[in-house]
Amino acid sequence: MGITKKERLALFEKAGGRCECRSNRCTHHAPGERCTQDLGEGWDAFYLRGSNGRAADNLAALCAICYKNIMGAWEIDHKEMIERMKAIRKSMSRSS
Ligand SMILES: [Zn+2]
Ligand SMILES: [Zn+2]
Repeated sequence: MGITKKERLALFEKAGGRCECRSNRCTHHAPGERCTQDLGEGWDAFYLRGSNGRAADNLAALCAICYKNIMGAWEIDHKEMIERMKAIRKSMSRSS
C-alpha cells in the first residue's frame, strides 16, 4: 500500500519540502520539535493514525532519517504484535 504520485506531491508541498516529524521518540532532532531537514530524495509518507485514513491530514512527510527512527520506535511498541503476525504467517506457510 502506498500513496499516489499526486498525493505524494501534495504532501511534499504541504510540508514545504521539509520534514514534518515532531515525534518525541525520534532522535534526529529535539524531542517534540519539528525536524526541519529538507526532505530530499529518500523521504516517505507516514500515516499518523494507522493506515485507515488516507486523508492528507493523516499523512506526514518524513525525511529518510526520521522515517527510519519512527518505524524503529513503532516496531519496538508493537514488537509483540509483529512477532505474533510472523508466527501466524509461518504456521500458514507450513500447512500449505
Ligand atoms: Zn526529519
Ligand atoms: Zn524525527
